[in-house]
Order: sequence, then structure tokens, then C-alpha cells
Amino acid sequence: MAQPYDDNNIFAKILRGEIPCNKVYEDDHVLAFHDINPQTPTHVLVIPKGRYVSSDDFFNEADEAEIAAFFRAVGKISRDLGVVDRGYRILANAGADAHQEVPHFHLHIFAGTDLGRMIKPAGA
Ligand code: 5GP
Repeated sequence: MAQPYDDNNIFAKILRGEIPCNKVYEDDHVLAFHDINPQTPTHVLVIPKGRYVSSDDFFNEADEAEIAAFFRAVGKISRDLGVVDRGYRILANAGADAHQEVPHFHLHIFAGTDLGRMIKPAGA
């Protein structure tokens, strides 16, 4: 059973303008802003404006226009941030094992330093 969308999650509040964000991009379907607690010199979050709990929810339930707009935006934002030449990582946490904190689908864009080769599991 899919988790219901919580309209009080922090990104829903950002989308409604109730909480400020340091915006880097916006269009009809997408908002992107700097992470409040950056893990790398560049750390941007890209979110759809639609009410999607997770990547699972978005990938399966969003319509074609939302999905196309989202990934086109990720491409444009990455170029506009100037991170493409040196390299960057995009990541989505989904569910408990991935420690997803905010239940509104988002992609992280990490860049600006050597990001290492891969992810280390907890305890490894
Ligand atoms: P998750 O673990 O869900 O993939 O990542 C959630 C991200 O949202 C974290 O990197 C966290 O720092 C970021 N975050 C949480 N609250 C806020 C906020 O109010 N504003 C911004 N800009 N980022 C936030």
C-alpha cells in the first residue's frame, strides 16, 4: 500500500511559499533550490510540483509531461550550475533503507568536489 502524501512535509511548505528557499530554477512542473545542509560545495534539490511521496510514486504515477519536464530540468540545472564538465552525481533516496527524510520526491545534485566512487552501506 503506497504511503499517502503528507501536505505538511517541508517541501510542500516550500512549494506553497510558507518557508523560504534559495531557488535556482522554477517552471510549471519543477522547483530546484539549494539544500539547507549541503553535503558538497554544490548541493541542489530538484522537486516536482506535483504531490509525489517518493521516486516510486513519481516514476509510476506522474504523467509524461511531468516526467519529461522533471528530467529536462535536471539537465538544464546541471548545466546552469556549471558542474557538467567536472562531474556530478544525482541521487534519490526512497524509503527507510535509503533514509529518505522528506516524503516529497526529490533528486539531489551533488558536485564541486571529488565525490568518491560509490556509496558505503551503514556499518561497512
Ligand atoms: P532525503 O534524506 O529525504 O533524501 O533528503 C532531504 C534533504 O532535504 C536533506 O539533504 C536536507 O538537508 C534537506 N532539507 C530538509 N529541510 C530543508 C529545508 O527546509 N530547506 C532546504 N533547502 N533543504 C532542506
